Amino acid sequence: MNDLIIIGGGPAGVAAGVYAARKRLKTVLIAEEVGGQSVVSEGIENWIGSPKIHGSELARLFRAHLDAVKGGTLELALHERVISLAKKDDGTFLATTKNGTEYAARAVLVVSGAGRRKLDVPGAAKFENKGVTYCASCDGPLFADMDVVVVGGGNAGFETALQLLAYAKSVAIIHRHQEFKADPVTVEKVAAHQNIRIIRHAEPVEVVGEQFVTGLKYKNKDTDAIEELPVSGIFVEAGVMPNTDFAEGLVELDAVKRIKADPHNQRTSIEGIWAAGDCTDELYHQNNIAAGDGVKALEDIYLWIKKH
Ligand SMILES: Cc1cc2nc3c(=O)[nH]c(=O)nc-3n(C[C@H](O)[C@H](O)[C@H](O)COP(=O)(O)OP(=O)(O)OC[C@H]3O[C@@H](n4cnc5c(N)ncnc54)[C@H](O)[C@@H]3O)c2cc1C
Repeated sequence: MNDLIIIGGGPAGVAAGVYAARKRLKTVLIAEEVGGQSVVSEGIENWIGSPKIHGSELARLFRAHLDAVKGGTLELALHERVISLAKKDDGTFLATTKNGTEYAARAVLVVSGAGRRKLDVPGAAKFENKGVTYCASCDGPLFADMDVVVVGGGNAGFETALQLLAYAKSVAIIHRHQEFKADPVTVEKVAAHQNIRIIRHAEPVEVVGEQFVTGLKYKNKDTDAIEELPVSGIFVEAGVMPNTDFAEGLVELDAVKRIKADPHNQRTSIEGIWAAGDCTDELYHQNNIAAGDGVKALEDIYLWIKKH
């Protein structure tokens, strides 16, 4: 029986794993990959201690830190996806992975982060990576001198548009409401560009193309007319979705399926389960915050385990 199962290998999970090893808790860290969401970033400039670091280098360092402390009490179960988490009658927990392996422990820390909200219209899945993309910093340069559209009018959408304006021929932003969620300063900065087109109160209805994307059909919500934007690239910035399916029905989630966690100690609604980072209802989504909250959870888990 393990003391602890950590589910996730992003900054929150790695920080918790390092602390768990140092505290000699018998722990298994289960993660599909080590690194987390910003692994695709070309330059992270706010990871404290590194003025600028590539996301893949940060992931390499995370892995090196885990490797340095593994063995002993910390076991790494990598390239495994947890598909269910259950509380047993004796109060312990059982995590089951996609390949059928079961892990038991007295406590669980959920640090499974979040993924991008997908564009849910016909053609979007078919043309993913054939014009439909979820990462401007990764794929933006592929669309040099082409017409592209950004779906989403929040800060992420406008910042993506700003990045794309550096190489694309034209950039459109399509937003479902009249008002933007993005900060007015950012909206003004983007709107000042000549090759930007802002389409408000409109909803994507279909991605069209042959081998690659050739356009985005959308509904003009003022007139109900279906119109088509001829574009080669569709950058989706429609928010994030927490990776919490396996915990649904066990711990309390908020309206958008993030795990509710007490910000003092990262406890969830179920005794014995903690959560930290982007899978929780934490207000701010940052590497440093995820790592810090992972450590906070671990400190509390350690005291809890020693008392139980
Ligand atoms: C493109 C991009 C750039 C970013 N740039 C920055 C930046 O410059 N600075 C900054 O501070 N923040 C940045 N962020 C935000 C930052 O990456 C997140 O806030 C942070 O990664 C959250 O960490 P986390 O540990 O909570 O979760 P994540 O990083 O999402 O990690 C989740 C982990 O859980 C694993 N996992 C998920 N589901 C399961 C499962 N069912 N079973 C097993 N394992 C699972 C994943 O494989 C992963 O290891 C960026 C985000 C993105 C998308």
